[in-house]
Amino acid sequence: MPKRLIAEKIINLTPLKASYPLNYMIPVYHSVSDEHIPHIKHIINYKSRQQFEKDIDYMSKKFHFADWDFFKENHNKTATKPLALMTFDDGFYEFKDIVLPILERKGIYAINFINPAFTGDQDLMFRCKISLLIERLNEFSSVPEPLFKLLNLKNGSKTDIIRKLKSISYNHQDLINETAALLEFNFSDYLKNNKVYLDLEDLNYIKNKGFGIAAHSWDHPYYNELPVNEQIKNTTLSIEYMKENNFLDDTFAFPFTDFGVKNEFFVKLFHGNNNLKYTFGCAGLKLDSYPENLQRIPMENGLSAEDELKFQCLYFKLKKYINKNTIIRK
Ligand SMILES: [Zn+2]
Repeated sequence: MPKRLIAEKIINLTPLKASYPLNYMIPVYHSVSDEHIPHIKHIINYKSRQQFEKDIDYMSKKFHFADWDFFKENHNKTATKPLALMTFDDGFYEFKDIVLPILERKGIYAINFINPAFTGDQDLMFRCKISLLIERLNEFSSVPEPLFKLLNLKNGSKTDIIRKLKSISYNHQDLINETAALLEFNFSDYLKNNKVYLDLEDLNYIKNKGFGIAAHSWDHPYYNELPVNEQIKNTTLSIEYMKENNFLDDTFAFPFTDFGVKNEFFVKLFHGNNNLKYTFGCAGLKLDSYPENLQRIPMENGLSAEDELKFQCLYFKLKKYINKNTIIRK
């Protein structure tokens, strides 16, 4: 059953008056738009302006939004309202024109965790390329025959091809390029004609408005697929970029997920970066055996912030009984 339906069931069946179990809450978004955005449409369930504002209004009632300086010093303290830190990932362009004005109006600070490899539209994150290929494939009335062979499928429907495309990993990006060639789609042309990512000027504009810019790895790999030395290298390169440009160098948010990332990584990373205070995953309402790694709540699962938070609270409580609400790093 899809998560949304499970959540709806639980929410409808439960007279939820439960209090929030932690002293802090960290939502994570990628983009907000009323438009159809081809490079994220098929990979991120982004919210409309109205949905985002509704989320913020709900969260503002229950939590106290803080800036990074206040949050990093106080998120473990008990207060009448738990502290909240707004975060966005990937440095998408909509942050400047759509998100920032909303946050300014509401008086809410945010950090945007970005990938230097894509800043200023130098390249596209591989999942964005997959989204574009799905968009392109939908222009074809039927699947071009050679695509089955390329993707190692005997036959099947467009849905099978899309599923296969979505499963391509960071380490097999050649397959993305070959698919693009076959579908006669050019990523460079797309970047020339569309503003996808914030550039350095945009980032400085956002910083000067009082918002945070921080590291999200160099080029957004799945950390689970990399050996520890590569994880460290990719992370450190992105933190170095923040240092060079006077952005935040004391925090880092994992690309995709920190699932499978070992204790050894955290020990090495914090040892090599004395400034680093906290890193962020996005496993929902959970604790982490590495206490400087804080888990965020993804807000783009098709639920309103209110329903997502109710779902997360209930889930947290259920897991408490079976001792499963702390991620154990080995
Ligand atoms: Zn990301």
